[in-house]
Amino acid sequence: MHHFKYSKGELHCEGVPIGDLVEEHGSPLYVYSRQTLLDHFSRLDKALTDLDHMICYAVKANSNLAVLNTLASQSSGFDVVSEGELMRVLSAGGRAGQCVFAGVGKTEQEIEFALRKGIYAINAESIPELERIDRVAARLKRKAPVSLRVNPNVDAKTHAKITTGTYENKFGVPYEEIEGLYARMSRMKHLSIRGVQMHIGSQLTQVKPFVDAVRKMVPLVRNLKEAHALESFSIGGGIGIVYDPALASGSAKWWKREEAKGILTPELYAQKLVPLLKPLGLRILLEPGRFIAGNAGILVTRVEYVKNTGKKHFVIVDAAMNDLIRPAFYEAYHEIVPIVRKRGQHVMADVVGPICESGDTFCKGRPLPRMKEGDYLAMLSAGAYAFTMASNYNTRSMPAEILVHGAKHALVRKRQSIRSLWRQERVPVWE
Ligand SMILES: *Cc1c(COP(=O)(O)O)cnc(C)c1O
Repeated sequence: MHHFKYSKGELHCEGVPIGDLVEEHGSPLYVYSRQTLLDHFSRLDKALTDLDHMICYAVKANSNLAVLNTLASQSSGFDVVSEGELMRVLSAGGRAGQCVFAGVGKTEQEIEFALRKGIYAINAESIPELERIDRVAARLKRKAPVSLRVNPNVDAKTHAKITTGTYENKFGVPYEEIEGLYARMSRMKHLSIRGVQMHIGSQLTQVKPFVDAVRKMVPLVRNLKEAHALESFSIGGGIGIVYDPALASGSAKWWKREEAKGILTPELYAQKLVPLLKPLGLRILLEPGRFIAGNAGILVTRVEYVKNTGKKHFVIVDAAMNDLIRPAFYEAYHEIVPIVRKRGQHVMADVVGPICESGDTFCKGRPLPRMKEGDYLAMLSAGAYAFTMASNYNTRSMPAEILVHGAKHALVRKRQSIRSLWRQERVPVWE
């Protein structure tokens, strides 16, 4: 259940009409629901009560300080992939001792920063990285807590760009090499083995790939635990959400789609995985990003023009692929609804942005009520991998972000001023 729905024909986020927010803060505008973030966090947390676990929210999904702070208030841990993300977490009130640091390309500076701050674990992905961590830790005269990322070679059956757990991908070290590598790690003087990690991909809508991967990992983890006194096993993130209600049969109302049949729910995830994980006697880490934030945000956009080419009906909006790149990048689906409910006939519309690339398209041939200039649309499920992937392409400023809390709301990121976009640039003087 999330908290964007119509009340008296107007789309609301919790108790706040979206129309009021765009009137005050302009468009395009990201709007997040605090309660939805909390609900998703606690739903997953509750489903796993029987298991010693820690949720480490994947910061890259949505890294606004207010979002991080909301989760930190629930004692969430965090999964970071850069020095910048760790700094954000610390600025937002998160604790380094509950953070894990992922990624195939950590620099010396990033490793040093994470160690100085007292990170819970660095999830290492290669031998050269282990050697680098060992060297940095030696220089700092401390022990670096590390887990190795295992590539279990299981197909997550998701989009190719977000599949990470097969040998076609750059991630982790092959399953077959793990035991030898742990033996080698245990001989590195400045490493302390914290645990073992995996992450097979993102936007998984079935439980089976998770079950397959965990099943494959269990005997390995058991051996590693015996040999190296592991403390934790991170099973990564990847729990998918419903973007397209047509795929969620059994419920037409999009704000109820999480209750629809056949959807990967935290309860199903827990029901299948807890029995496999609990006997390990380890602390289980989870790194959900999209599941927590995805349906907790929308992108609101203004209709600038309606253009009929005879063949096509285009709704040209003021948001573009620089604000929300997922449709252009992953062919991703976002449901698009008017912020004021409209009656009457629908037209098959393409909703497009102003950028001179055909990829700047949010949907094609989608039934929409007839829109006119000055109307607003909301792109739903835009809480994850949305603002964090925004850019200034076409010298467009990034949208403002609002966090709603009941009947209140706060501007949690100001809209960028256009002049600020070239503030770091210099025209050289050659003489
Ligand atoms: C991206 C990522 C996650 C989060 O993935 P979601 O699909 O958003 O849950 C978790 N762990 C690692 C290592 C990642 O790279």
